[in-house]
Amino acid sequence: TKQSGRNGYTFFTPAMQASTSRRLRLLQDLRRAIARDELLLHYQPKFPASGKPVIGAEALLRWQHPELGLLGPDTFIPIAERSGLILAIGDWVLDRACAQLRAWHDAGHPGWSMAVNLSPLQFASPALVETVRETLRRHALDPAHLTLEVTETTAMKDVEDSLQRLNTLTAMGVKIAIDDFGTGYSSLLYLKRMPASELKIDRAFVRDLEHNPEDAAIVSSIVALGRSLQLQVVAEGVETEAQRAFLDQLGCDLLQGYHLGRPMDAETFLHRAG
Ligand code: C2E
Ligand code: CA
Ligand code: CA
Ligand code: CA
Repeated sequence: TKQSGRNGYTFFTPAMQASTSRRLRLLQDLRRAIARDELLLHYQPKFPASGKPVIGAEALLRWQHPELGLLGPDTFIPIAERSGLILAIGDWVLDRACAQLRAWHDAGHPGWSMAVNLSPLQFASPALVETVRETLRRHALDPAHLTLEVTETTAMKDVEDSLQRLNTLTAMGVKIAIDDFGTGYSSLLYLKRMPASELKIDRAFVRDLEHNPEDAAIVSSIVALGRSLQLQVVAEGVETEAQRAFLDQLGCDLLQGYHLGRPMDAETFLHRAG
């Protein structure tokens, strides 16, 4: 029942997902994963819709489990989130991603930026702002080179607190991306007040883009919304050249997807993109 998926990592059947004993086992193992150096980051390139060159990367977490193989975040992040372990893991991700960006800047790509995903618990944590500030300082990075990705659902929860936190981060110079945009229930009023610099269109709207006029209409409304609020619009999950061309035509600013570049290790990223 264990198979190697398209991402190259192991996924499980729904029956296994639901198994409580498996979850407990993963939780136990995950507690030791940082100390045992089993977590790693892959980096997916982000491109202008018109084509190259790479403008930066999104850090995506993986777990090299000693027996189960390479696990994708969907198999363990929910467990980490429920147990609170995500806070330690999230600090690790931010630190490693910033260390990597520093290395790339030093290797001759000082314009590249890094995007890091924040979980709901991390985003709500009072320690977040100081952790971000301290991590940027430790790696001598300009805050403008860091984008924090929060999902639309996370950003719209406890809106006033959320706005305050986002304002503090953007005052520091950090960029904010609203991830999985279109899957939540944003109020346009709050979106207008949200100090974000990017909207990331969920890949659900990209998948059948050329064949589904409703998806195309949704994408072009998000592009129009982004324009009027002065946000960059990013489409994710671009798997074909036809999708790339269409998204470019619709006015998307930036693209990510297997067609342009899969998540890869840091060394491969530097060789491919640099
Ligand atoms: P996300 O932030 O929406 O990330 C995009 C996901 O889509 C990634 O899956 C990426 O590998 C995948 N993807 C990229 N291009 C394509 C494509 O062309 N086609 C398809 N089918 N998929 C594509 P991944 O790496 O499995 O990550 C899943 C989710 O796990 C992420 O969704 C994000 O919500 C979460 N995640 C990943 N890394 C972290 C992390 O460090 N911290 C937290 N809190 N969450 C993370
Ligand atoms: Ca993301
Ligand atoms: Ca996303
Ligand atoms: Ca997603």
